[in-house]
Amino acid sequence: MDGTIQAAAYALKYGVAFTIAGGTHHAGHDFGEGFCLMNDQATAAGYLLQQKLANRILIIDLDVHQGNGTAHIFEGHQQVFTFSMHGEKNYPFIKQRSHLDIGLAENITDKEYLEILDENLRDLFERIRPDLVFYQAGVDILGTDKLGKLNLSPATCARRDELVLGLCHQQHIPVQVSMGGGYSPQIKDIVNAHCQTFKIAIDLYNL
Ligand SMILES: [Zn+2]
Repeated sequence: MDGTIQAAAYALKYGVAFTIAGGTHHAGHDFGEGFCLMNDQATAAGYLLQQKLANRILIIDLDVHQGNGTAHIFEGHQQVFTFSMHGEKNYPFIKQRSHLDIGLAENITDKEYLEILDENLRDLFERIRPDLVFYQAGVDILGTDKLGKLNLSPATCARRDELVLGLCHQQHIPVQVSMGGGYSPQIKDIVNAHCQTFKIAIDLYNL
């Protein structure tokens, strides 16, 4: 929890920061579920607002599961905008309402996924003009994932990260990244996809 708060502070200072854990987006105000006890990015967002370190926050949740806890915490909130793009047929089966939800069909193609994401991200950055982004970069969108019902490639997962981090970098918006889910039977598929997210940030930000 404290790691994500600190990562958010590092993001404000250095532009980008990662938490090597977190993305516990199924925890709400007064409940924990789906392997999530407390919501790290929601807590960090609340902390930044309370400390007046940020005024408009965008939480981008691209894990295959809807960020129902995050949505529950910030439903109707004026300063924290929640965006979840997830498998419609995936857990949680009763969805909460994010500011923007996109529930994807199981048979969506890599190309369609990236087009939908690109269009919505550009629109959101334009409309919200966040002064900080939290990115939940779950890799359970992969076709190899045993819980996720989408069938996307590692290249698409990497391109997804490039779209998010590229916009943050281009628009000078600090971004904190939490890992989120990943349940491919071969551990290397999970590790490679998470490492890809780090590599993209390293290249973009010349770290
Ligand atoms: Zn997940």
